[in-house]
Amino acid sequence: ASVTQPYVALPDKPYLSAPGSSTAAGLYIGGSWRPAADGGVREIVNPYDASVLTVVSEATAADAAAAVAAARAAFDGGPWRAVPADERGAVLHRVADLLARDRAEIALMESLDTGKTLEEGGIDVDDVVAVFRYYAGLADKDAGRIVSAPEGVFSRVVYEPVGVCAMITPWNYPLLQLSWKVAPAIAAGDTMVVKPSEVTPVTTLKLVELVEEAGIPAGVVNLVLGSGATVGSALTEDPGVDLVSFTGGLDTGTRIMAAAAPTVKKVALELGGKNPNIVFDDVDLDTAVDYALSAAFFHSGQVCSAGARLIVHEDVHDAFTAELARRADAIVIGHPQGEGVRCGPLVSAEHRAKVEAAVARGTEEGARIIAGGRRPDDPELSRGYFYRPTVFVDCHRAMDIVQREVFGPVVTVERFRTEAEAVALGNDTDYGLSGGVWTADAARGERVAAALRHGTVWINDFGPYFPGAEWGGFGRSGVGRELGPAGLDEYREAKHIYRNLDPKPQRWFG
Ligand code: NAD
Repeated sequence: ASVTQPYVALPDKPYLSAPGSSTAAGLYIGGSWRPAADGGVREIVNPYDASVLTVVSEATAADAAAAVAAARAAFDGGPWRAVPADERGAVLHRVADLLARDRAEIALMESLDTGKTLEEGGIDVDDVVAVFRYYAGLADKDAGRIVSAPEGVFSRVVYEPVGVCAMITPWNYPLLQLSWKVAPAIAAGDTMVVKPSEVTPVTTLKLVELVEEAGIPAGVVNLVLGSGATVGSALTEDPGVDLVSFTGGLDTGTRIMAAAAPTVKKVALELGGKNPNIVFDDVDLDTAVDYALSAAFFHSGQVCSAGARLIVHEDVHDAFTAELARRADAIVIGHPQGEGVRCGPLVSAEHRAKVEAAVARGTEEGARIIAGGRRPDDPELSRGYFYRPTVFVDCHRAMDIVQREVFGPVVTVERFRTEAEAVALGNDTDYGLSGGVWTADAARGERVAAALRHGTVWINDFGPYFPGAEWGGFGRSGVGRELGPAGLDEYREAKHIYRNLDPKPQRWFG
């Protein structure tokens, strides 16, 4: 099934130029909107029909340097450093209020830009509001601590902002992933340069508009748009940057870590995953299949924590996979702004080509497709980057289709017999972002959760997260944590201040 609908336009914004424009003023540096140094622009494509959605600025390396200089100036001088923590919290609450006010507009922007459904765009905004509120609350809760010290000594640890932060984000959750960085960085008192994916810049522009409206001093939040190779690498190499926080692919993450090394920047990485979803034979199959579908195909599988690797007990494997395939084939794909649509297009032609190549490779390796494995038949959808939800069976742990992140609507199914085997398969990955276990046996659920080497483990669920619970990867899924108290610690330095209350000569050297 599929749903189509007439074209919906983006709202009018000064930073979004109409399709066909040769100018744009979408960089935000030192508190003012401006075009790129060389006047460069980039067309942003609507993945639904490959039309040009809008035209935005395309920064140069010089723009990136100017943005870092503005953030540096705002950190090293400027009024921001004198803003106390509770007022930084109040700023975050104001941003949250503005996001909630503009929920419908932002949901539409995200949906048009990424191809996610309008409903998902709205869920993203709600999650982003919750993240801003969480860090608003945390901003003034923990200024440091007094450390036990000998008499005559007053010793304390205080938290200070890290400094200038570069934030580089991906295209799947543009606003959401950015909020996990911007909100704690503001709470901590940092200044920042944000660079969204060149494929999906629209809601990042909108967030900067709202940050400006919330009254954050000039230079605290700066925005550059453009490619990773030019603008992203300029930020990671700039000696004026103290921390790089990156969410994106593994290969890019390794490059960023290397590029940050010569200047010993702090690096926080949220990378990919190939997340196991383990199903024992004692579960209610209807429920387990339902969640397995959401885990694999929500946002067309373009989710870092997608449950793309099903590991199913052999006694229920055949019944489970038959039902999974039947329901996957019934998923309604179509216009992201259409009623009742569950999956929109993939984000870009390039990305769909990668997904198709991965599926072809899976077939070559001997895995067997029992649902999808092709583009939809509906000619109405032929201009966009659609791909049917795809289920592979007869999968084996050594296959690329099982080990490599596809980041699309593709799930593989392996079988297991014993609990030990299930755990071994669940940990048989270079990644370690998330995993799930389904069982009616509470003790077994806890045992498997304890044994899985992943940053998040769900028992009898898959996908939920809270702003107050840390998110991040074991293994090659990343370095550091976002969300929770640790997500604030990424953006601050601990400083020990030792005060000798009554200094007397020690005569160590006579
Ligand atoms: P990507 O790595 O291609 O790009 C991410 C960002 O990095 C973009 O802004 C890009 O312009 C920039 N970039 C590219 N090359 C760069 C370079 N050399 N220097 C600096 N910046 C550079 O990733 P993507 O395709 O946009 O996103 C998909 C990936 O993101 C998937 O692997 C997914 O698993 C991961 N992801 C992880 C999480 C998480 O929380 N762990 C969340 C969302 C997405």
